[in-house]
Amino acid sequence: MPFHCENPDFKVRSITDGTVFHVKRAALQGSEVFRDMFALCEPGTGEESNELELQDKSGELETLLRILHDPPFPPMKLELSPEEKLFRVTRYDPTTVIPLPLLISVFFRLADKYMLADSVTDVLKIHLVANAPAQALEVYSFASLHGMEWEASRASQYVLPMASYHFEEIKIIPDVVAYHKLVRLQDFRVKALRDLLLGEDIFPHGYGECTSHREETAAGWDRQRKALVGRIESVTDVAGEMEAFTETLQDCKVCYKACIAAVEMLSYKCNRLPKRLDQLPDVY
Ligand SMILES: [Zn+2]
Repeated sequence: MPFHCENPDFKVRSITDGTVFHVKRAALQGSEVFRDMFALCEPGTGEESNELELQDKSGELETLLRILHDPPFPPMKLELSPEEKLFRVTRYDPTTVIPLPLLISVFFRLADKYMLADSVTDVLKIHLVANAPAQALEVYSFASLHGMEWEASRASQYVLPMASYHFEEIKIIPDVVAYHKLVRLQDFRVKALRDLLLGEDIFPHGYGECTSHREETAAGWDRQRKALVGRIESVTDVAGEMEAFTETLQDCKVCYKACIAAVEMLSYKCNRLPKRLDQLPDVY
C-alpha cells in the first residue's frame, strides 16, 4: 500500500529519484532531524518553502513518512493462562509483532537516523522484546549493542544454553561482557536447579510417607534425581523430568500422591528461580 496523506500541506522530494510525497508538516515534527531543518529555514529568511529535498531513496522515505504519520502500535498481548499470570509472563499475538529483520534493518535504523520521538522508539522496543522468545540471541545482542539493558535482560531468559550455539551464531553477541553475562546467568540457574532438585525429597520430613514402601520409593526418587542432576542445563524442565518417576508408582496410591506433590513443589520452586539477568543477585 503506497503512502497516502489525507490533508497534505507540505512536500518531501527525494533528490535521488525525483519522487515527491505529499505530507503533513506537523507529522514531520516527530523527527528531530526535520525539526532542525525547519528551524533553519523559519520565516524571516524571505523564502516561504513548502518543500523539503532529501538525499534518501523514495522507498526509505516512504517508510519513514508512514512511521511519522501513522506511528506503529505496540503488539497485542495474548490472554494468559492462570499459571502464566502467576509468573508474570507476557505473550504477544505473533501476527501483530513487527518481524525482527524488518524491525532492525528498517524501523530502528530510521528511528536512529531521523531521531524519531521516544514514543516511537518505546513502541519499537516492545516489538523487539516480543521477538525474543523466537530469536533470543539476536534480540539480546541487538539490545546489548544499543544499550537497551532492560530489553537485553528480557531476552536473556530465552537464550539457549551457550554451548548449544554454533560459532557463526554466537558471533552476533557484540562483546565479551554481553557474552559473559549470559554465561553467569546460565551457570547460576544450573547450580540453583541442581540444589533445588537434590534438596527436594519425595517424603519431605516424613510428610506423606508410605509405610509399606518408604525406603524403596525414597531410593527410587533419589536414583531418578541423581540421574537427572548431571544433565541439567539452564533451560531444563526439572519438575517435568522428575514427573516420569510418578508413572512407576501407580500401584501404590500413597507413594503416587507423594510423588505428585513433590513434583509440584519442585515445579513451583524452579519457576521462582531467576530467569533473567536483572533477577540475578548482585553478588553473583
Ligand atoms: Zn507406597
